[in-house]
Amino acid sequence: MPRRSRRQGLICKNCGSRFSSQKEVRITKTWHVVSPFPDRDGNITISIFAIWICPVCGSRNRGKLSSIKSDAELKSKSYTQRLEEIIYESREITVEEIARKLGIQKNTVLKALRYLIKEGIIRAKLEGEKVIAL
Ligand SMILES: [Zn+2]
Repeated sequence: MPRRSRRQGLICKNCGSRFSSQKEVRITKTWHVVSPFPDRDGNITISIFAIWICPVCGSRNRGKLSSIKSDAELKSKSYTQRLEEIIYESREITVEEIARKLGIQKNTVLKALRYLIKEGIIRAKLEGEKVIAL
């Protein structure tokens, strides 16, 4: 495991080059991972991950670019609301389908769902990998 990098820095795992800004590297893919656990204020941390190419040695790296805390509850709400809408509209849906619709990872959806169901925010039940609206 590489040492924990500075918040803004990117380090090539192959040659060890350090880049202070993501503009210095070529990003080929990005995705978001949403923390399933909102804080006291209902905010959720959204981490942005990327695959990027080191301009020095050309190797492919994968790592976290940054995290955003949804301060105005806006993002966490919209994710939760979208999750709710998807479940209530479909009545019955697999976790995988939800993940695809939201563009976030299946494990993240599963964790978020367990939390939201336990807290009574979403009225549904999990049966294996299936979500059934109640
Ligand atoms: Zn490199």
